[in-house]
Amino acid sequence: MDNSPGKKMLESAQALIKKTAEKMNLDRQTVKQIIEAEFFHEFSLIIKMDNGQKQVFKGWRVQHNSALGPYKGGIRFHQETVGEEVQALATLMSIKCAVAGLPYGGGKGAVAVDPKKLSKQELERLSREFVKKIHQFIGQDIDIPAPDVNTNSQIMAWMLDEYQKIKGYKSLATFTGKPVEMGGSLGRIEATGRGGLFVLQALLTKLEDFETNFFESRGIITPLKRKKIVSSSSKLKIAVQGFGNVGYYFAKLVYEAGFKIVAISDSKGGVYDESGIDPVKLMDYKKKTGSVKDFSGKNITNEQLLQLEVDLLVPAALENVINEKNASNIKAKIILELANGPITDEGFKILKEKNIIIVPDVLANSGGVIVSYLEWVQGKQGYWWSEEEVNKRLKEMMERAFEKIWRKSKEKNLSLKEAAFEVALERIVKAMV
Ligand code: NAD
Repeated sequence: MDNSPGKKMLESAQALIKKTAEKMNLDRQTVKQIIEAEFFHEFSLIIKMDNGQKQVFKGWRVQHNSALGPYKGGIRFHQETVGEEVQALATLMSIKCAVAGLPYGGGKGAVAVDPKKLSKQELERLSREFVKKIHQFIGQDIDIPAPDVNTNSQIMAWMLDEYQKIKGYKSLATFTGKPVEMGGSLGRIEATGRGGLFVLQALLTKLEDFETNFFESRGIITPLKRKKIVSSSSKLKIAVQGFGNVGYYFAKLVYEAGFKIVAISDSKGGVYDESGIDPVKLMDYKKKTGSVKDFSGKNITNEQLLQLEVDLLVPAALENVINEKNASNIKAKIILELANGPITDEGFKILKEKNIIIVPDVLANSGGVIVSYLEWVQGKQGYWWSEEEVNKRLKEMMERAFEKIWRKSKEKNLSLKEAAFEVALERIVKAMV
């Protein structure tokens, strides 16, 4: 257990908080308060399977820090999840919400289960049982769960329904990522991918403004004028790991914005096509065949995808995929961390030496929690916006967050990740009265 990826992820999030706090001269008790989780709930879920037998699963809800507001964070169903991983993800949510300027603290939930091995009825029973375990300590002003890996709006619908049955009243703002018919927001499904596109565009604009040579020296584009970025973006080669909610919508939206995607993978492997991949056609193909393999170009492994000669690499699946073993082989010039924690500490150090620009998860994938926030606001006021309105607000909030992190990184000569942690800690500490 000690060397588990979950434990490593937690240690690395805590180490970065400590390092940032030291630079900010925060006192020891304040640092301790930020590092520790406020609550760590661990429980068993006993489910009656379709064959009549009982099966026991382990579940968690970790509530990390509530200085800025109610805890906020997704629920993940994954067979390899352990408590430390959930705590790490809750910690990252506190940082992410603070970076995005949201009135939330961080939380995360999980069940150690492979949902692909459950029938739909078993999955529903598990989702409802999870709410029976956590209903006492969630609520629209206490802790607001959402979807994460292997959970979706259908699972949120079962969870919300169970919550409302237990409480005996309707609650439109206790869960986010719900179906629109149950008080969800338009634009929520695509939000994390869309936010990734907004951050990418903001970064490319900065690279042009501040580092005109960035593209030229890498032979991507001759010196640009700001307006030309989107049209020139077709020359950027992109590889995306993960073809679920985040990876698919990011790929679809960047493709529509004129970028060229040359590689996409899922858990079974990937495809590489130098002439470009249309993500919508690939998704239709995957639905028919069950995988992306043999779609076009050639088949590649997930490891090969990470090491491709591309301009932008987008890990959008699981954590720790770029580490001390493969970081020196990464050839991308920019990494956009759409998954949570896809780069280990050791990997990060190697990539930094290689001068690779890393847009950290706590900024790059905050589109999901930002639109969850917009869903919560709409639910609380009982008034829903058009999709254009939601997307406009998402863009403004992502660009504001990016600008703040970018400035801090330039002012203090920090990586974007270090800058993001510093901005977040400044906000959290001010609220810890
Ligand atoms: P998802 O379950 O919808 O999709 C996960 C994808 O990753 C699938 O395509 C799956 O095949 C692929 N995958 C699984 N194991 C893999 C492996 N070993 N190698 C390569 N691919 C693999 O999950 P998601 O919601 O898209 O989340 C992906 C990542 O983004 C996670 O790290 C999650 O925490 C993070 N995230 C999600 C959201 C959100 O709104 N859904 C928001 C912020 C961050």
